[in-house]
Amino acid sequence: MMQEYIEEAEKVLLHTYNRYQIVLDKGEGVYLYDIEGKKYLDFVAGIAVFALGYHNTAYNDALKAQIDKLIHTSNYFYNVPAVEAAKRLQKISGMDRVFFTNSGAEAVEGAIKAARKYAWLKDGSTDHEIIAMEHSFHGRTMGALSVTGNPHYREAFEPGIGNIRFARMNDLESVLALVNEKTCAIILETVQGEGGIYPAEEAFLKGLRTLCDEKDILLILDEIQCGMGRTGSMFAWQKYGVKPDIMTAAKALGCGVPVGAFLMTEKVGEASLAAGDHGTTYGGNPLVCAAVNKVLDLFEENHIIENVGRVAPYLEKRLDALCKKYDFVKTRRGAGLLQGIVLDRPAMPVIKRAMEKGLILINAGTDIIRFVPPLTITKENVDEMIGILDTALAEESD
Ligand SMILES: *Cc1c(COP(=O)(O)O)cnc(C)c1O
Repeated sequence: MMQEYIEEAEKVLLHTYNRYQIVLDKGEGVYLYDIEGKKYLDFVAGIAVFALGYHNTAYNDALKAQIDKLIHTSNYFYNVPAVEAAKRLQKISGMDRVFFTNSGAEAVEGAIKAARKYAWLKDGSTDHEIIAMEHSFHGRTMGALSVTGNPHYREAFEPGIGNIRFARMNDLESVLALVNEKTCAIILETVQGEGGIYPAEEAFLKGLRTLCDEKDILLILDEIQCGMGRTGSMFAWQKYGVKPDIMTAAKALGCGVPVGAFLMTEKVGEASLAAGDHGTTYGGNPLVCAAVNKVLDLFEENHIIENVGRVAPYLEKRLDALCKKYDFVKTRRGAGLLQGIVLDRPAMPVIKRAMEKGLILINAGTDIIRFVPPLTITKENVDEMIGILDTALAEESD
């Protein structure tokens, strides 16, 4: 049955993904089921999206209620869920102004536009530069792709938006070497996700903040993957005490409905994008904002961030033990429930074997197994995951 669907899919969908050979049907908590009824423990959560676990009835009911009320208006009108969601994001982030988008990439696009407009208002010139990081990932649209530090992703689509320079993550000297009077922004993920799970070092982030303050450069932190509680604080930068001028969020922000946001301080808000500069048809519609509001309710009610604080050290400990046990598992790195183990070989064969045994994992780059589970996982879920992964790794070493 599953094979038939896969063959149908390959006839009709554009082949932009090498998909896992399973057709998913439904979810319950931290488990997914395929259409043949096979159960999987899910340590991917739709890539850091479904933070609250599947089939969360409180979340589902909130969406159903909003569907029956109002799904979409236009951003030329106000709607209550959007204002509510913006106020709450303002409160939890300490940022001042919110623009809702449909995706992470769209949030990055908005952040870039805000930074360019800010610089343009200062000197009227149109040759400003942005510094981004090697190994970064910011999305697939042309602007977001242009600041993504993976040449393979960019190559066929050049030229990008232009005037982008790449520095090395956690190497302040490499940033300083690129800064000049045209630099308008520095963009980075607080913890790099897709590019290899590299957390920013505190000294690096603080150094960037000082540099940006001295030269009135805008610091843009991409929190699309590492934000929303995943690393143990609502946004990863909060633990460093380094506040960005602009930040992005998406993925777990709506826990499954397409919603992202870029947020900025008042300083940037009052001197960048104005009426007519930017827009989106769906962004921040009542349905997705009702989801955001419910997600934020449930984060509080279910003590999600506290759970990350409890379970993440345990996950780290168990992963570290696997590093010790297998020579070809070189190291672990990450923050909170955004973790990776680095192999000395391609990760995909191990991931595929784990999948056969009922565990869903994903890679980051070719040789890293990434762990981005729902934030509701328990230590027992970690034990179950480690048990399966251990077997898959043992087979790899045979
Ligand atoms: C996933 C991701 C994006 C892109 O988000 P989309 O919703 O896929 O456009 C951007 N930045 C980071 C850090 C991400 O992890």
